[in-house]
Parts: sequence; C-alpha cells; structure tokens
Amino acid sequence: MTYLFETEEHAAIRQSARRFAQAHIAPHGADWEEAEGFPVELYATAAHAGITGIGYSEALGGQGGGLDHVIVACEELILAGRSVGTVVGLGTHGIALPPIVRFGTPEQQARFVTPCLTHGKISALAITEQGGGSDVASLATRAERDGDHYVVTGAKTFITSGTRADFVTCAVRTGGPGHGGVSLLVIERGTPGFSVAKQLKKTGWWASDTAELRFDGCRVPVANRIGPEHGAFPMIMLNFAGERLALAAQCVAIGELAYREAVAYAKERQAFGRPIVGFQVTRHKLADMASQLAAARALAGEAVTRVLRGETPAGLAAMAKNVATDACSAICDAAVQIHGGYGYMRETLVERLFRDARLYPIGGGTREIMNEVIGKAEGY
Ligand SMILES: Cc1cc2nc3c(=O)[nH]c(=O)nc-3n(C[C@H](O)[C@H](O)[C@H](O)COP(=O)(O)OP(=O)(O)OC[C@H]3O[C@@H](n4cnc5c(N)ncnc54)[C@H](O)[C@@H]3O)c2cc1C
Repeated sequence: MTYLFETEEHAAIRQSARRFAQAHIAPHGADWEEAEGFPVELYATAAHAGITGIGYSEALGGQGGGLDHVIVACEELILAGRSVGTVVGLGTHGIALPPIVRFGTPEQQARFVTPCLTHGKISALAITEQGGGSDVASLATRAERDGDHYVVTGAKTFITSGTRADFVTCAVRTGGPGHGGVSLLVIERGTPGFSVAKQLKKTGWWASDTAELRFDGCRVPVANRIGPEHGAFPMIMLNFAGERLALAAQCVAIGELAYREAVAYAKERQAFGRPIVGFQVTRHKLADMASQLAAARALAGEAVTRVLRGETPAGLAAMAKNVATDACSAICDAAVQIHGGYGYMRETLVERLFRDARLYPIGGGTREIMNEVIGKAEGY
C-alpha cells in the first residue's frame, strides 16, 4: 500500500530509493547492525546518488520536493535496505539541517547545508541532556558570550550520528532560565573543547551510532548562531513537529516490513501438515496487522497532506505519531509471534525490527508528551 497523496513523482522517488537501498544497504545491512555501525563513506554515496538531497531545494544542492517525498524515500530505504539503524543514521541531516534551512543566513546554508546534501558531510541534532529530554526549556548547557565567540560548557546525550558528525546543531542556554534563554549554535568537529565522551549501547537501531557529547570551554563563533540570540525555542519546537511526522512514517515503514515478513513466513512454515496461514488464528492475526498498518498510514498521510496544504496540525501530527508507534510495536510483536522460536533469534529480521520499534514511543517526543500536545490542541 502507498500513501493516498502519492503521484507518479513519488513512484519515481520510491524507485530510485529502492535501487539505492538494494545496491548499497541490503547486501550489508544485517552485518552493519551486528557490528553496530556502517561505513562512513555511505554518507557520500547517498549524497552523490541524490538520496540525501530529497526534500531540499535545488538552490541548496538538493533534489527539490518536501516532507511527502522524504517519507516515501525513507520508506523504500527501510523496505529494500532492511536495516533501520543504517537508514536512521544516514538520515540525521533530516533533523539537523531544517533549522539552518529555515532560519540560517545564505552564508550559513552554503557552509553547512549544501556540503551535507552534495558531499555527504555528516550532521547531527543535539538537544537532549542527561538532566532531561522532554523538558527542553530546562536545558543546562551554557554558552557565555565572549566577544565574537560563545564559550560553551555542558553535555548532550543520546545524539544520533554524534560520534562522527562533522557538526552538531546544538541547543544551548545563552540567557536566563526557561524557554526564553535558549539559542542554537552549529558546533563543528575539531573545535577545541568539543569531544565525544562515549558511544552508547542500546536496545535497537544498532547500526546507528548514539553519542554522549561534551563541551569544555568550547569556543564557537557567534557567526555559527542560527537565528536570533535567545530565540531558538520556537525553532526547536517547529523542528520537532516535522520530526514527529517523519518518525510516524518510519513506524509505518517498519510495520509494513514486519507485516510482509510475517505473511511470507506464514505461507511457508508448516505445522500439523499445513502452512500456518491455514489456521484461522494466524490469518486473523495478519488481518489485524494489516488493519493497524492501514490506519497508521491513513493518519500519517492525512497529517502530511495537511502540512503540505500549509496547515500546522500539531494535535493531528502527535496523534499520527502515537497511532503509528502503537501500530508498529503491535505489528512487530505479532510478527515475532508468527515466527515462533525463529522470531526470537538474532538471525531473523523481525527480531531486530521488534527491538528497533521500541525507540519510537520515546524518541522525538515521548508518547506521554504527544498526549500533552494532543490535549493542548483539543483545549484541555
Ligand atoms: C536511540 C535514541 C536516539 C536519540 N536521538 C536523539 C538525537 O539525535 N538528538 C537529541 O537531541 N535527542 C535524541 N534522543 C533523545 C530523545 O529525544 C529523548 O530520549 C526523549 O525526548 C525523552 O527524553 P528523556 O530520555 O530525557 O526522558 P524524560 O524526559 O526524562 O522522560 C522520562 C519519562 O517521563 C515521562 N514524562 C516526562 N515529562 C512528562 C510530562 N510532562 N507528562 C507526562 N510524562 C512525562 C516521559 O514520557 C518518559 O516516559 C534519542 C533517544 C534515543 C533513545
């Protein structure tokens, strides 16, 4: 099934993303997941193939298009590449660059955005701190102004692509407490005082790296500040709104992959002298999975369509993320069950998808925070 908004243009993007994933991800994806990393060269390969630039204007070095093109490309990368960790690691520009595209100067865009899109420079988004991720307004990483530099001191955690990013789009406190004192700085690798403290081990998304970053008196030029001083909070919230829909679409893609695997296995696996799809209970399980998937796709598709029409459907986008998250978790769980003992084995794709799925009610705004957003949109 595809999204209702799709046209021939989306079909062409699906085809090129599928070809890329079949050639460059699928043959190695399972090994990269076990090795907890994919080769850094893949960023350049994806950029040169025009994959990284999907959704960015041609003026910036991209392929044009919008969120709708990004999510269909991502779905094909997941379906054909069969390595969620690789796809999310390769895709961190999708959360690191939009604030620079929206609020950066042309000079900042040329320095930071274009090299990612055309040459595979690596970017990451650094918001979360050990003291808290949901409560962004309480972040504590301090940036003190000193002439034409900021001196940054603090730490970030859970940063996807953080161990090898060429730069991080980083939220810092330049002013007083609360949401009015936050700014965004681009902090480049190699800046004295910026270091990777640790690569973190995690439940899923193994092929992507997740880092703890440290800033010890790190001097960052004022020229690297995105947008106005103390004015980053609304930029960060806008960025989360886009990320939410991208994550909902990733859930749809993972759910679709797990469902396909389950259907194929149910047709092939024999028990009591017949394929297990011959049992009504298996067919009903598959039917429930297909229904959950269709509902998640419909809601995510509607939210994306409204964004494309110029609306800002905050509540609907949060609903889409929660519905897609729940569908993905339930589908992956059922797919493991249909695979029986093999579903619990590391060699089986659905075992990995089951672990990958656990991230989505947490990352990019938790399930509980989504419900807060929905409550606010509904007026209670
Ligand atoms: C694999 C992975 C990759 C990530 N990548 C990035 C990245 O690239 N960049 C980045 O900046 N961050 C990243 N994150 C961080 C992620 O966005 C945060 O983990 C998430 O926002 C939650 O923050 P927290 O972990 O501090 O949990 P907390 O905010 O401490 O929440 C803990 C629990 O309390 C609940 N809670 C908190 N506040 C409320 C409330 N008001 N009402 C009800 N319940 C509440 C939460 O829902 C949760 O269940 C990543 C996380 C993971 C696991």
